[in-house]
Amino acid sequence: MASQVNGHSSGSDAQGGKSLREDLQEFLGGEALLHELDDLTKVNPVTLETVLRCLQARYAADMFYTSAGCTLVALNPFKPVPQLYSPALMREYHAAPQPQKLRPHIFAVGEQTYRNVQSLIEPVNQSIIVSGESGAGKTWTSRCLMKFYAVVAASPTSLESHKIAERIEQRILNSNPVMEAFGNACTLRNNNSSRFGKFIQRPLAQQMTGAAVQTYLLEKTRVTCQASSERNFHIFYQICKGASMDERLQWHLPEGASFSWLPNPERTLEEDCFQVTREAMLHLGIDIPTQNNIFQVLAGLLHLGNIWFADSKDEAQSCQLMDDAKCSIRTSASLLQLPEDPLLETLQIRTIRAGRQQQVFQKPCSRAECDTRRDCLAKLVYARLFDWLVSVINSSICADPDSWTTFIGLLDVYGFESFPSNSLEQLCINYANEKLQQHFVAHYLRAQQMLSPATQLPPLEYAVEGLDWSFVNYQDNQACLDLIEGSPISICSLINEEGRLNRPSSAAQLQTRIESALAGSPCLGHNKLSQEPSFIVVHYAGPVQYHTAGLVEKNKDPVPPELTRLLQQSQDPLLKVLFPMDPEEKSQEEPSGQSRAPVLTVVSKFKASLEQLLQVLHSTTPHYIRCIKPNSQGQAHTFLQEEVLSQLEACGLVETIHISAAGFPIRIPHQNFVERYELLRRLCTRTSAGSHSPSPDEGHSEWSPHTKGATLQPLLQDILHTLPALTQAAATP
Ligand code: ATP
Ligand code: MG
Repeated sequence: MASQVNGHSSGSDAQGGKSLREDLQEFLGGEALLHELDDLTKVNPVTLETVLRCLQARYAADMFYTSAGCTLVALNPFKPVPQLYSPALMREYHAAPQPQKLRPHIFAVGEQTYRNVQSLIEPVNQSIIVSGESGAGKTWTSRCLMKFYAVVAASPTSLESHKIAERIEQRILNSNPVMEAFGNACTLRNNNSSRFGKFIQRPLAQQMTGAAVQTYLLEKTRVTCQASSERNFHIFYQICKGASMDERLQWHLPEGASFSWLPNPERTLEEDCFQVTREAMLHLGIDIPTQNNIFQVLAGLLHLGNIWFADSKDEAQSCQLMDDAKCSIRTSASLLQLPEDPLLETLQIRTIRAGRQQQVFQKPCSRAECDTRRDCLAKLVYARLFDWLVSVINSSICADPDSWTTFIGLLDVYGFESFPSNSLEQLCINYANEKLQQHFVAHYLRAQQMLSPATQLPPLEYAVEGLDWSFVNYQDNQACLDLIEGSPISICSLINEEGRLNRPSSAAQLQTRIESALAGSPCLGHNKLSQEPSFIVVHYAGPVQYHTAGLVEKNKDPVPPELTRLLQQSQDPLLKVLFPMDPEEKSQEEPSGQSRAPVLTVVSKFKASLEQLLQVLHSTTPHYIRCIKPNSQGQAHTFLQEEVLSQLEACGLVETIHISAAGFPIRIPHQNFVERYELLRRLCTRTSAGSHSPSPDEGHSEWSPHTKGATLQPLLQDILHTLPALTQAAATP
């Protein structure tokens, strides 16, 4: 079914079948050119096939945006299309009386949210939820939307406030390259894949400016472990490629040096631009000495990754450093400004406090344990550094959500992904995507049809109000969410429980428990051919096989207290900020050396943060942008039907179009409707004598919640007929 489209000559598909034009004539009766159909609700009939062909024709004609009811479909061009994102075009959408009447574009969505949040009658929080699989274009889209807001928002009245607004807008834009340098990486699916979730809130009402960034679960394991053909976070490569001679000397990064945590350094990516990151940091108020401090710490982590231990012959003895690692530990200690011997000792020896007297015991670690502690140290530093950067960005861009009346939220999370080997990171990423899909299902597919969540049936209102409604079936992902997070037993709860039991849990044990406890779930699968213990989750976007090895440990994410104590000894100014001395910390420790407070696991923390996010989203009017990847190789002019089809199926686009086409485009709560149109009702009553408008005794003038939809329609038509008279009446004192 795969077909290729080259440039604008999208004539016929690769199978030598009918041309797109013939197809168009077949299902549109030759009324319009297929690629000119910019609203999928107008496709007739709406089927996967017709929607696919329409999108393919538009893609071939360089029309990358198409409306689909409440959703905007964004096809990734995989090539620069500068005219599509020019400031002139942004201003055109901003100035248009009805931006929705222009060609579908993310700027129309941006402008709509901007107007809604500024509405004097009914300002409501807005959100734009950008979704799609990894590499589909979510981050690109949100970056363009941020540029759009920067152009339209930096125009307050006075010259002084204009300058301030412009400066803040510039800083908000500069947060992108910084966060992407530290939080994005090259994966098998995307050279610039976001490895964290991001929600940006912008006030943008009453000439306000500013933003607040909230991030979700950075994939910190990437610092120390990268799948084959993938890379570490961009920033490490940027330093190694972009540092000056002096900086190289200072940070011990000679040209051609090899670091085990820096795979595939030979690949050159657009994102490897150190200068762009440095300038953006400077704009955000991170001065050169602080920047140098950050890069020195990161260089220290790279050297830490070159520390290897040899197996110890005697269990009572510590594992010794491999010969060529001696230099690495010295360099790492010096860059992190840590004393060398305690650094080595902390990696080699575990401290256990036991008994009432909190006696301290020391136990030499096995080679694997030493490696784990080394990795843990690096992840701890990197994760704190990332969080600190986000807080610096927030203070630089005037993040003060408490003072905002309304906001626009822009959500860009990591996209759905499935690799040959998937672990806790992918489980969390795909869980987040399931939650967002569920938000869409609940907010749109279910709510639009006013289905009861319990019965999945439309309520009697439609029939009572005399409105025709034929139920549109759709794929609900609730069963998958129940499997992942449901109560009382779910994949998350079982992983948590295995961790709590504190037994040497094996990967096979976890697989067996999941399979037996959750056997009834239609979304749980098993790969009989798999060599390693695993389970399959049938996500809305496709099945993913998760390997259970290491899952429980990753979920516990234990940080030995000795590591934190070690970092608190650093003389490095940045590490002093990241790891401040906390006098209370010591007294909170349990005899075993663990903190007394219940330690939240990775999935528990992630679940709580997702729930918080969804609560915020529920308080907004959502706008959806569905990014679609036309091919997985990232090639321009290539539209692979099968790949697009599976994405359309997964997100329920056809159902969305059906519902949008059949449903009412505007849904206003009764109270708001009454408040907004009360004046019309009064005018209507005043001018009723001798006009077409209904009189009170006809039952039309009272807009009670029980006003029937079918009777409201003629009333509104009457109002429209009598508008000239109403206008006149309004003008008469
Ligand atoms: P992930 O979930 O992995 O973070 P993503 O959906 O955020 O993926 P992006 O990083 O936004 O994907 O896009 C992947 C690549 O596709 C970009 O680096 C860019 O090369 C290209 N791309 C995306 N959208 C556009 C566009 N509108 N115009 C040109 N190129 C684009
Ligand atoms: Mg992204």
